[in-house]
Amino acid sequence: AKNEFRGTFSFFEAGMDAQAQIRRKIETELREAVQGDALRPYYQPLVDLSSGRITGFEALVRWPHPERGMISPAEFIPVAEETGLINAVGGLMLRRACADAAQWPDDVRVAVNLSPLQFRVGNLLSLVVDTLKQSGLPAKRLELEITETLLLEKSSEVLATLHALRALGVRISMDDFGTGYSSLSYLRSFPFDKIKIDQSFVRDLTANPDAQAIVRSIISLGKGLGVTITAEGVETEAEVNCLRNEGCHEGQGFLFSRARPNAEIVSLLKTQGNW
Ligand code: C2E
Ligand code: CA
Ligand code: CA
Ligand code: CA
Repeated sequence: AKNEFRGTFSFFEAGMDAQAQIRRKIETELREAVQGDALRPYYQPLVDLSSGRITGFEALVRWPHPERGMISPAEFIPVAEETGLINAVGGLMLRRACADAAQWPDDVRVAVNLSPLQFRVGNLLSLVVDTLKQSGLPAKRLELEITETLLLEKSSEVLATLHALRALGVRISMDDFGTGYSSLSYLRSFPFDKIKIDQSFVRDLTANPDAQAIVRSIISLGKGLGVTITAEGVETEAEVNCLRNEGCHEGQGFLFSRARPNAEIVSLLKTQGNW
């Protein structure tokens, strides 16, 4: 998918590294998209597996590109990370997601992804405080998703920021659990409210006994720690049944819904409960 930029750029390829050219083009256009306020959050439901109710939505950034249609974050988040643009992207996602969620029913949460870089610029805590105040969203309705790479640094500032966020009432989720550099020692030293089992384990759940064993252990680990466990990438009934049997709390995936624009959230909430 990365090579889709080539078609529009082949003229410049002679003598230059095509991949670098593609990245530069993404960077330039992404900067314009950020400045022009063109990025949008789409929202994918998090479903309580025992009741079938939607507990919240994860905000996922979407880039409607004038020529290329919707560009996947898998394509531009890495460029945004490399160029530092992720701070602007992350900031605008947080503001929009909180403003949108403030209009949803008051038992519905919103989850926002944070890049490790957003912890490094130093103003993350005040950004969250200001955004909650401006949007009127209660802190307990905001979840922040972080990845294990953030914890690799074992930084005391990161730890202090996570504690301060939780003291506000914000929930912290460990995203893509099981894919990073493990995990168990971080769970002891860092405060979490939720573990999200990476979709790579869920994908193999019904076919591969090893994946099933891993999912089962993550669930029992999470329960032992008293945190919520969410399975990502749930696509089939069989996967849901298996996850329910194992006692997993929440699911997220195409079986329930793809990510949708804010305008569709209220009607989606009205039709929920069929899962
Ligand atoms: P993620 O945080 O792990 O988000 C879940 C990804 O899985 C989303 O991809 C979602 O659309 C996809 N997904 C959900 N259900 C299913 C399913 O049943 N099957 C399959 N095959 N995929 C499913 P998306 O939206 O393309 O986002 C990709 C990644 O980009 C995200 O992975 C996250 O790491 C990053 N990302 C997205 N938005 C943001 C953002 O605002 N800030 C930051 N820092 N990263 C973001
Ligand atoms: Ca996430
Ligand atoms: Ca994830
Ligand atoms: Ca991911």
